[in-house]
Amino acid sequence: MLRIEHLGIAVKNLAASIPLFEQLLNTPCYKTEIVESEGVNTAFFSIGESKVELLEATKEGSPIEKFISKKGEGIHHVAFEVENIEAEMKRLAALGFELLNETPKKGADNKLVCFLHPKTTNGMLVELCQEIR
Ligand code: ZN
Repeated sequence: MLRIEHLGIAVKNLAASIPLFEQLLNTPCYKTEIVESEGVNTAFFSIGESKVELLEATKEGSPIEKFISKKGEGIHHVAFEVENIEAEMKRLAALGFELLNETPKKGADNKLVCFLHPKTTNGMLVELCQEIR
């Protein structure tokens, strides 16, 4: 794995959280993007080598809505950048990590992504991501 690409943070209200994180991080939000397939609206901030991704549910029953109703707002996932997502998925599956999708899917911010089930990663939802070139 190359680096921590971003931290995903679940929020109830993106419009309210963007100015809060702009103040906290002292940097402007550089992009917002809706990922309809995931039922999520996202906002990105650049922090040195990494990013912060805010996630707001766009509909009832979406994964972010379920997460917030169970655990409240806060850190939702850690995303690791990888060179070759398919090779990394194969490597981790062979070691017994449970992949939440069998093939890479299109995520926000021009990425191919795959999530690992938290039950095989000590409770941490892990996202693998590879820049679409
Ligand atoms: Zn993410």
